[in-house]
Amino acid sequence: MIELKGAGVSAKIKDQVRAALDGYEGPVPTLAVVRVGEKPDDLSYERGAIKKMEAFGLRARSFTFPQDISDADFKTAFAAINRDEEITGILLLLPLPQQIRQKEIEAMIDPKKDLDGISPANLFRVFAGDADGFAPCTAEAVVEMLKANGISITGKRVTIVGRSMVVGKPLSMLMLRENATVTVCHTRTADLPGTCREAEILVAAAGRAEMIDDTFVGDGAVVIDVGINVNAEGKLCGDVDFEKIRKKAAMATPVPGGVGAVTTAVLARHLVRAAGIPIPGI
Ligand code: NDP
Repeated sequence: MIELKGAGVSAKIKDQVRAALDGYEGPVPTLAVVRVGEKPDDLSYERGAIKKMEAFGLRARSFTFPQDISDADFKTAFAAINRDEEITGILLLLPLPQQIRQKEIEAMIDPKKDLDGISPANLFRVFAGDADGFAPCTAEAVVEMLKANGISITGKRVTIVGRSMVVGKPLSMLMLRENATVTVCHTRTADLPGTCREAEILVAAAGRAEMIDDTFVGDGAVVIDVGINVNAEGKLCGDVDFEKIRKKAAMATPVPGGVGAVTTAVLARHLVRAAGIPIPGI
């Protein structure tokens, strides 16, 4: 089984970003990472995103708010970030605490700054098969991972485990745009292992530690693991039991070291696009 690492794909995107910035003399594109509260997952995603922007020659600023901030106060602060001309793009860490009406914030975000595709305008574009907007970075990272490794999607049976608005649903639309035949699974899917075994490309985005073992994988399948979980031993792991699928899968992405690194690279590329800087080859 070939391991599909994220680092190589991220490096390719870095080259694209560097080439785009070469000769560009305007203000450095700046990402605003907006976080409410101190969830460890958010903190680690924020650190990774900021590090990646800086490594790619871009800028990032953190905007942090207390967990108990009121809906009205957060909206006022968010509107100011949204308007700020120094901010090129926004990454809002979700979900927001219950007292904040998240749907209203998603509708407020300027679609031109909405790098992670949470606004209705960008989601509509994803569902319409229109590549002009911003798709959710993780969903785009899965497609990028396949293409950068020369894996053709056209005509393939692609099965996605998970139907969230962040990963499963938008990814199913991006896969359709790439001419895959798509199956989307969830907790009510009858015979989940059997359905997954039919897939030529299997994407695990359920958020269940190591639930995908060899009984879910057809011979020679490509397995993309989006999950980020902690297993019974307290170790970071994906949705896929990487050791158990070794004899079945032709290729698979590890966790850590797989899709996550590509997600922040896609975010950086979105930031460059949001600044209106043409990216060669895109
Ligand atoms: P959600 O919890 O929002 O959605 C999980 C989906 O998986 C749901 O549709 C759920 O089905 C389905 N599901 C859960 N358990 C099972 C099961 N046992 N069998 C079949 N389907 C199941 O999660 P997210 O989409 O936000 O995230 C998924 C994973 O991806 C998480 O581990 C998250 O940490 C990770 N992630 C990784 C990113 C990256 O950059 N690598 C970025 C974003 C997320 P139902 O709808 O029926 O409840």
